[in-house]
Amino acid sequence: MGLAYFHADFDVSRHAFQQAAIKSGFALTEVEVSQQAGQALTVCFAEAGDPSSDRAIVHISGTHGVEGFVGSAIQLAVLDKLASKGSSARRIFVHALNPWGMKNLRKANAENVDLNRNFIFSPQKFAGAPEAYKKLNSFLNPKGSGCCEFFLARALALIAWHGMPAMRQAVAGGQYEFEEGIFFGGRQLAAESRAIIAFLQEKLKRARLVGAIDVHSGLGQYGDDTLLVDAASNAADVEVLRERFKDRVSLSLPESSVAYVTSGGLTEGLPKILDRARVLAFVQEFGTYSALKVLQAMRDENRWHHRARRAGQQLALRHSSKAQLLEVFCPADQEWRQKVVERGCSAYMGLEGLIQGVKL
Ligand SMILES: [Zn+2]
Repeated sequence: MGLAYFHADFDVSRHAFQQAAIKSGFALTEVEVSQQAGQALTVCFAEAGDPSSDRAIVHISGTHGVEGFVGSAIQLAVLDKLASKGSSARRIFVHALNPWGMKNLRKANAENVDLNRNFIFSPQKFAGAPEAYKKLNSFLNPKGSGCCEFFLARALALIAWHGMPAMRQAVAGGQYEFEEGIFFGGRQLAAESRAIIAFLQEKLKRARLVGAIDVHSGLGQYGDDTLLVDAASNAADVEVLRERFKDRVSLSLPESSVAYVTSGGLTEGLPKILDRARVLAFVQEFGTYSALKVLQAMRDENRWHHRARRAGQQLALRHSSKAQLLEVFCPADQEWRQKVVERGCSAYMGLEGLIQGVKL
C-alpha cells in the first residue's frame, strides 16, 4: 500500500498531494517561490482544524528538493489516515518547500541555496565557511570533468586524517562562501524560507504549542529513522520527545548521532519564527546508503549541474548523476519505501498525540 504514495516527478506528486488534502478536508494555499520555463513553482500549504486552537502540528516535505519524494509519500499516507480522524490541534502540511529542487532533482534551490542552512536571522551571519571546508573545497566542488580522480581513496584518506565526525561537521554544517558549492546557505533569506515564515507566523498567531516534523533522507542506517532534535533545545523539550519516541530521538551532534550541528536549519529556526509558542520540533532523517556514497552522489550531481548550466544545456535531468542522486535520497527498493511510510506515519501520529496531550 505504501508504495503507491511514491511518485515519479514533482508535478505528479504535487497533484496527488492536493487531491489527498482536499479529500481530507484541508484548505490549500500556493505561494510562488520561483519559475521555470514560464511555469510558476509554488510551495503548497494545506491547513485544517480550528484556527483559534492553541495547539498545532506542522509537517514539512522537500526542504531539500529531491528528498521531497520521501516526505511527500509520508504526507499522502498521513492524509489518508487523517480523513476520518478529528483533531483539536490545527494541522498544517507544507508540500515541497523547495519545489524547484524537487522538480529538477537537486537538494538546493535555483540559486544553489541549501534551504536547511538558510534560516538565519542576522544578516551578518550569511558569511564565511569553516576552515576545514575551505581546505576541502577543491575536493568537494571540483571544476574538472571528473574522470579518474579516485573519489573513494581521497575521501577515505581525508577521513583517516580528520576523523569521520569532524569531516561530517566541516563538510555538512553549512557554508556561506562558495556559491556553487554543496551545503551553501545563501546570502540572505531565500524566497522559500520567507514563504514558510510568513505563512506560519500568520496562521499560528494563536498557537502556544507547536509540533513540527521536517522530513529528510540520506543520513543514518539504511531504512532506519532518527528524530534529530536541535542540540540547543531546552532539556524539558528534549525530555518530552524522548518520553514519547524513546531512543529514536537523538541530539544533532556529530559525536552522538548520525548528524552534525547545522547553521540555519529550519527546525532550529522555528522557535524564533514562532516566538510566542513552545515548539517541539525535529528532523525525521531516514538512512539510505553510506555517508561516502551519498557525498559522492551530491558532489557528482552538483558538478554536473553547474557545468550543464554554464553550457546552457536543457537535458540536465537525463544525466546519470541525477538518477544517482535520486537513488541515494529515495531508494527504489520497495522494502525501504514501505518502511519509510510506516515510520513516517508513526512519527506524525505520535507527535500529534503528544501535542494534544501536553499540559500548557
Ligand atoms: Zn535533507
